[in-house]
Amino acid sequence: MPIELPEEFLHRMQDLLKGEFDDFVAIYKQTPPTGLRVNALKIEPEKFEEISPWQLSPVPWSPSGFLLHGDERPGKHPYHAAGLYYLQEPSAMAVAELMKPKPGERILDLAAAPGGKATHLAALMKNSGFLLANDMNPRRVRYLINNFERWGVSNISITQERPHRLAKHFGASFDRVLLDAPCSGEGMFRKDPSAVQMWSQKLVRTSAERQINLMATAAKLVRPGGLLVYTTCTFNPDENEAVVSVFNKSHHDFELIKLPKLEGFSPGQSTWIENGNEVLNRAVRIWPHKSVGEGHFIAVFHKTDGEDRRIPAWKPQDLVKKDRKLVDDFWQKHMTGPIPMEWRFSLQGNRVYLIHDDTPDLRGLHVLHWGVWLGTLKKARFEPAHPMIMTLPEEMFREVLNLGSDSEDARAYLRAETLDAPGPAGWIRVCVDGYPLGWGKRVGDRIKSHSPRWLRNIY
Ligand code: SAM
Repeated sequence: MPIELPEEFLHRMQDLLKGEFDDFVAIYKQTPPTGLRVNALKIEPEKFEEISPWQLSPVPWSPSGFLLHGDERPGKHPYHAAGLYYLQEPSAMAVAELMKPKPGERILDLAAAPGGKATHLAALMKNSGFLLANDMNPRRVRYLINNFERWGVSNISITQERPHRLAKHFGASFDRVLLDAPCSGEGMFRKDPSAVQMWSQKLVRTSAERQINLMATAAKLVRPGGLLVYTTCTFNPDENEAVVSVFNKSHHDFELIKLPKLEGFSPGQSTWIENGNEVLNRAVRIWPHKSVGEGHFIAVFHKTDGEDRRIPAWKPQDLVKKDRKLVDDFWQKHMTGPIPMEWRFSLQGNRVYLIHDDTPDLRGLHVLHWGVWLGTLKKARFEPAHPMIMTLPEEMFREVLNLGSDSEDARAYLRAETLDAPGPAGWIRVCVDGYPLGWGKRVGDRIKSHSPRWLRNIY
């Protein structure tokens, strides 16, 4: 169906783009490409290309990013449930690549749901350092949690907090802070019809005001020497160059970095705002008529000065003896080797988490997920949780059932159907082509699927 773009939007774009405008509007008659980003924590991109059921071509700015050709539904393939990839708009893949996380860093994604950029950051961090993914929207934060459950990461915590509360709790303690700001979404008009419906000049104005405030708060969380990354998926200069300009003028301890000119990247447009300094051209714009992605804007600031407040790693209290015994009993029966000595557990409610060694103290915040959720203490037993199987290495699991992606069994398992497979009783790691899908529990000759509820409806 043709997209009906708002008149005011079209007039402004014509004013800005001048001779390029015809090329720009022509893209709204074309289907946007589907982007797929491989989870390098689970499979190398080259290996994924070999096993991919779809034809892929590269995204120029991301080694793990691909364009997917054909009209298959990759969100319904068992490899998706196994966390082998994330379906992400190609331009959005530029952000984590430009952030370039380094080993051991602490990184904050302030507006992270549903987790596109945060899962990318996590893959680049390779389970080193600490990633805090936050979003204040309770509905969206559920998707963030589910996406991380399949991603298989140990160094992440998820909070649902207002940014100013995080600034108060942490101060200038993160090496890199990402603000993927709520915006008017003009860059997503081709992919998301609701963005067209919701768009108005008023939304642009209120978004810009909120973005300026959020940037000021985000800045308080960055350590000296650290990076603050601002990004939107809108074309509107009021929400891009103008926000960056206001921030630049009011924050002398931050310097706008010149971003590399990769294939498909265009510079920021200082002349599109009043009194725009040409320093704004250091930012990057991605245009759908000039590249393989939708509209995106990215600006990266380096913090040159100021107070440093690195919070020490948190040492959670050990589990009490009777709780630890339940975990040990499970481990002895279903896992191989002893529980690694260096592991630190934390009991939150009745959930047992494995806390990553560089997790700062998060107590007092609304934390929804800490490290790896290993399982839940029920009356007199420990019941393993989905993230445990998606995160711990293969060699730790005693019993494995491997299903082929070409058979219906993997999908049946994901729909929570029972499988026939005789063998020893107890918990089993169920895999598709060797990649974990979740837990199964064998009783007699049958395996009951423990595929999580949120996955069941998809298959
Ligand atoms: N980074 C996400 C990704 O890559 O999947 C997309 C984030 S989306 C562009 C913006 C997010 O900002 C939304 O999830 C929304 O819930 C959140 N948000 C809205 N208002 C906010 C506020 N005042 N402070 C922080 N986050 C906010």
